[in-house]
Amino acid sequence: MPERMLQFVRVSQETPEKREVATRRADFREIYEEFDPPRARTQASRCSQCGVPFCQVHCPLSNNIPDWLKLTAEGRLEEAYEVSSATNNFPEICGRICPQDRLCEGNCVIEKGFESVTIGAVERYITDTAFEKGWVKAGTPKSENGLSVGIVGAGPGGLAAADMLRRQGYAVHVYDRYDRVGGLLIYGIPGFKLEKHIVLRRWKLLEDAGVVFHLNTEIGRDLSFEALRRRHDSILIATGVYKARDIGGPGAGLPGIVPALDFLTASNRQGLGENVPEFLSGALDAGGKNIVVIGGGDTAMDCVRTAVRQGAASVKCLYRRDRDNMPGSIREVKNAEEEGVEFVWLSAPEAFLGDATVTGVRAARMRLGLPDASGRQSVEQIEHSHFNIPADLVIKALGFDPEDLPVAFGEPALGVSRWGTLKVDHKSFMTSLPGVFAAGDIVRGASLVVWAIRDGRDAAAAMHAWMKQHATVAVAAE
Ligand code: FAD
Ligand code: SF4
Ligand code: SF4
Repeated sequence: MPERMLQFVRVSQETPEKREVATRRADFREIYEEFDPPRARTQASRCSQCGVPFCQVHCPLSNNIPDWLKLTAEGRLEEAYEVSSATNNFPEICGRICPQDRLCEGNCVIEKGFESVTIGAVERYITDTAFEKGWVKAGTPKSENGLSVGIVGAGPGGLAAADMLRRQGYAVHVYDRYDRVGGLLIYGIPGFKLEKHIVLRRWKLLEDAGVVFHLNTEIGRDLSFEALRRRHDSILIATGVYKARDIGGPGAGLPGIVPALDFLTASNRQGLGENVPEFLSGALDAGGKNIVVIGGGDTAMDCVRTAVRQGAASVKCLYRRDRDNMPGSIREVKNAEEEGVEFVWLSAPEAFLGDATVTGVRAARMRLGLPDASGRQSVEQIEHSHFNIPADLVIKALGFDPEDLPVAFGEPALGVSRWGTLKVDHKSFMTSLPGVFAAGDIVRGASLVVWAIRDGRDAAAAMHAWMKQHATVAVAAE
């Protein structure tokens, strides 16, 4: 029987079951179980089909959420998948790792006093079912159009663009310095949020569609940017942001103080079955150690929870503001606390202790002051409030900045903003170089997967429009 909608009065909010803390601490598998079909239908039926769906307004992809919720409630899952995949290249990934509490679900206006519809879990359920049933097909084009694009970066931004352009008949070549496809989806985000096989099956589908991947190929080192431009009718730069923000102070250079992404990448590679020397030597292994992670964003949350799974003796997260003012998702803080992480709020490191290697962090207590120009409360140190925390491994998770791309690519005419991100025309997505476009974190600064997908889709549409006008002429003239 199809479910009737508007069931929020009768049916309470339910998320898929979380695995027991003791078992999830011991492995890197995702922590949420899959919805079972009746529960997914019932939860979808809670949607009140708003006339102005704020969930959709606050989804960066403008996903047609009410429609696919209704189709799910009616058991019409194949149609739900069609609707959901029309606006999102990787709905099963967004369903798992979007910070829904800040996006779609946080803006669900079901009715005062009732908790939001569990949109992300239903989105994941729809696409996982579509994969199981064989409804997800490679985006092979009906015909080739004779034009070729080069995409630098195989993260979600580059992959979304590759998918869109390949479907339109372009020969699509994706270049990445890494040996696997996925960018931060594969080497940044840990398996307990997004299992690796989910990313790998998208890689396979794109290859099946005819996308050509040139891995272990760093543009600017293994192949010049100039040579790349000669190879293709247009270029998309989707290289992400990787320069870790550093921390100063006495002892900051001691061995045992490591950047977050080195730690996470080593763990992800180890999980993918590689033997990572820095992990095996213990330098990037939290096992048996007292761990201090510095930072309050999603990267810091991933580090603390990875350290727990590696068998750390203790894991503390040091953040200078409080829980309400942290940039990371509150859902992830809750998960981390359940798993045994201790948050030391309103505390900032001042110095690192130790001789041959780090043995502790000297920190000071902070208090929140008046809001600054951005509206965020400033932080100030409380005098004589120092305290020491023992630490065998300190992980710095303070955010990322872009690399100097004009230098790395040997292309000084590539325009950048004062933050080092690539400047693009906000409508055409074109950089200062004709026929060179950009998308994702390299344009926005460190952001979200869903925004990278949105940018990749928009940039692909802009590239298509530009090539229709310019590239055919160039090809004919050759
Ligand atoms: P990336 O994913 O960074 O991909 C860029 C690719 O370009 C990489 O594969 C890189 O190897 C390649 N590249 C770079 N330079 C070159 C070159 N010169 N030549 C060839 N290839 C090159 N977002 C969420 O929405 N939810 C989360 O839970 C979440 N968790 C995160 C956890 C961590 C630890 C981190 C670091 C980020 C997280 N994010 C999360 C943010 C999200 O991962 C990024 O916003 C997103 O991946 C950006 O996509 P992108 O395609 O722009 O870049
Ligand atoms: Fe929500 Fe993200 Fe899905 Fe949009 S893509 S509906 S924000 S989970
Ligand atoms: Fe349904 Fe909530 Fe979206 Fe309204 S805001 S359409 S109730 S999911």
